[in-house]
Amino acid sequence: MATKYKRVLIKLSGEALAGEDKFGVNPEMTAKTAAQVKEIHDQGVQIAIVVGGGNFFRGRTGKNIDRATADYMGMLATVMNALALQDSLLSIGCDAKVMTAIEIRDMAEGYSRRKALDYLDDNKVVIFGGGTGSPFFSTDTTAALRAAEMNAEVILLAKSIDAVYSEDPNVNPDAERYEELTYMDIVEKELRVMDLTAATLCKDNDIQLYVFAMAEEGNLMKVINGENVGTLIH
Ligand code: UDP
Repeated sequence: MATKYKRVLIKLSGEALAGEDKFGVNPEMTAKTAAQVKEIHDQGVQIAIVVGGGNFFRGRTGKNIDRATADYMGMLATVMNALALQDSLLSIGCDAKVMTAIEIRDMAEGYSRRKALDYLDDNKVVIFGGGTGSPFFSTDTTAALRAAEMNAEVILLAKSIDAVYSEDPNVNPDAERYEELTYMDIVEKELRVMDLTAATLCKDNDIQLYVFAMAEEGNLMKVINGENVGTLIH
């Protein structure tokens, strides 16, 4: 069966690798995430991944540390996650390559758009570590930027929740679950899907976003096959 998407960018938050631990890299959780990625890779989908770093460090939570310095620490955190995911993928026979926005030459390759595109064409999973390389940005913005650069058809935004809701469904069980939204809806309804810089970049570059729960096994495959398991934003 032909997949719905041929080239995707998956945004994984650091929490997708930490699991229940909430901190650091949980080996089982990372392996589960890698297994889902391999499943769609085996279908011939070209995959770029942007990883967050919140399971180690977030710039805005750094106390007594200059914001820019704290952001650089956050970017380093994303590199740790990228390396963990790379090894998890390699260990199950899925070829993967980390590229970092800030050069850390002995650990990974520096980002080059041309090379990243070549790797995708060569069926390597490309993992972008180090965010955009600039402080004051988020990995959601990185996802939007790299998706535009890679000409990805969609950003698959893996969340701990299965879709976008009008309110937190854990707080209000009557919250409305959305199947489809526009970027304007996100702004007008003040839905916390991604930060506004990221949403603006997606809107301006006509990048679709699909919000879904990665924690549910097989869900990534369902998204790739066009099953309706989350929220589409365009
Ligand atoms: N970060 C940054 N510039 C970027 C991307 C990330 O400064 O282009 C820093 C920022 O401090 C952020 C941290 O890296 O808090 C980790 O990223 P993020 O919070 O997006 O991770 P997630 O919440 O998705 O795990």
